[in-house]
Amino acid sequence: MDASALRLLIKQKLQDGRLPHSSITRVWSGPSDGETCDACDVRITKDQSVTQVTLADDRGARPGLPFHVVCFHLWDVERCAE
Ligand SMILES: [Zn+2]
Repeated sequence: MDASALRLLIKQKLQDGRLPHSSITRVWSGPSDGETCDACDVRITKDQSVTQVTLADDRGARPGLPFHVVCFHLWDVERCAE
């Protein structure tokens, strides 16, 4: 998926609620354990880094949302743009 298609998908997900607008309380990166990216729905392979995000209103219900590094940055830009 190229960057403009990815940006469009993330915009759509923000609009229909599949991706949150919530503020982020914690972001950290580490080696992937085969998670699926919340933005592009593609598996993050073990040779890639995963960016894990904890949301202000998530109250620890989930350990964090996994994103590709690039997907996280696109989501963060679009989230703040709306
Ligand atoms: Zn992704």
